[in-house]
Amino acid sequence: MDFDLPEEMRLLQNTLRRFVDGELIPLEGRSLDGQKLKPEIESHLVARARELGLWLIDLPEEYGGQGLGLLARAVVWSELGRTTALPTRHVPILGPDIRPVMYFLSDEMKERYLYPTVRGERRSCFAQTEPDAGSDPGSMRTTAVRDGADYVVNGVKRFITGADEADYMLLMAATDRSKGSRGGISCFILDMDTPGVRLAGFHETMTGEHPWEIVLDNVRIPATHLIGEEGGGFALGQKWLGIGRVKQGARALGVTRRCLELAATYARQRVTFGRPLAERQSVQWPLVDSYVALEAAELLVYRTALKFDRGLDVRHDAFTVKLYCTEMAWRAAEMCLQVHGGIGLTTDLPVERLWRDQRSHLITEGAPEIMRMVLARHVLNQFGS
Ligand SMILES: Cc1cc2nc3c(=O)[nH]c(=O)nc-3n(C[C@H](O)[C@H](O)[C@H](O)COP(=O)(O)OP(=O)(O)OC[C@H]3O[C@@H](n4cnc5c(N)ncnc54)[C@H](O)[C@@H]3O)c2cc1C
Repeated sequence: MDFDLPEEMRLLQNTLRRFVDGELIPLEGRSLDGQKLKPEIESHLVARARELGLWLIDLPEEYGGQGLGLLARAVVWSELGRTTALPTRHVPILGPDIRPVMYFLSDEMKERYLYPTVRGERRSCFAQTEPDAGSDPGSMRTTAVRDGADYVVNGVKRFITGADEADYMLLMAATDRSKGSRGGISCFILDMDTPGVRLAGFHETMTGEHPWEIVLDNVRIPATHLIGEEGGGFALGQKWLGIGRVKQGARALGVTRRCLELAATYARQRVTFGRPLAERQSVQWPLVDSYVALEAAELLVYRTALKFDRGLDVRHDAFTVKLYCTEMAWRAAEMCLQVHGGIGLTTDLPVERLWRDQRSHLITEGAPEIMRMVLARHVLNQFGS
């Protein structure tokens, strides 16, 4: 067994680390407007990311991307996770957000939606969550009922990121509510300017994001806009959410590393009662706990990514990664804030941003309780007799 990253990944990692240290960290505190990159900074960073070979690393080569393996992408996400200069969710400097469900579109629909999105001419949002269905999307109330050549959709979607700027949404709707997530949810592509689609308002959040509420009132979607099979939407979604969980885990590695760097540096400098904080055992131990967790988490993330690249099933690994790494990074952010005292609460340092952002990742894309719920079934089956 070789636990080291392959040579080319280590080169990638070094390049990214220099980019983050030299060009992104100096922008912290002034690159974002809420959670969006300021336009002039975004265009500069996009150009730099292209130069560094980071553009469209997620997208398969057949669609014009680089089709990097998950291990290489995990290295990138981990390094970028060290900085608060970028938005905490979608990182636009790597290219437009293209959800893998789009690869299941027909050729004609790819021409209309996928390729223009790759070229940056059209934008999408993903609409699954509802006021009464977040962690449990199988209970969603938005229905899509077949009527001739169309589906008629009624319902409300909540917390939809980027709905105000999107040209179309990837919509999850129930085609058979009695089946829920076991064959009752379908995925559609829906233009935002379709009659009956209305943005009803947005929520301000502690991270500076403002996800939208969308009302769907007797919206007619042509049946040709169904992606994959009727009832197959949930299964399609799970395919890419698995990758998303590894991404979350990799990002959390970077957050934890940065929190360790900030906390260890401050602890060595800050003197209280005549001694540096770094000499106090109560300060040392949480630092050590973060370090030990990071060492373990790195192996977990990289092993999962490698298994995925080898075509193996990583469903449970991806849940384990999301659970372990996001909780680890949250504890590290909490430790980092505590070590810094009052200055950590100010916006002069990136500490409070790391803390706020990481807290939000314990709720979105699958809360720890949901990861534990799913893994409990796996553990009971695997270890119970
Ligand atoms: C900034 C932001 C951006 C978002 N962007 C999008 C987007 O673009 N598209 C989209 O579709 N959604 C989006 N969401 C929605 C997000 O995915 C949901 O908020 C998330 O899935 C949790 O759902 P919920 O808020 O309804 O919480 P609920 O499902 O109501 O859960 C509430 C609490 O109960 C816990 N819980 C739930 N079930 C169980 C259980 N079985 N056992 C124990 N505990 C449980 C959860 O951990 C949670 O803390 C976004 C949310 C935010 C805040």
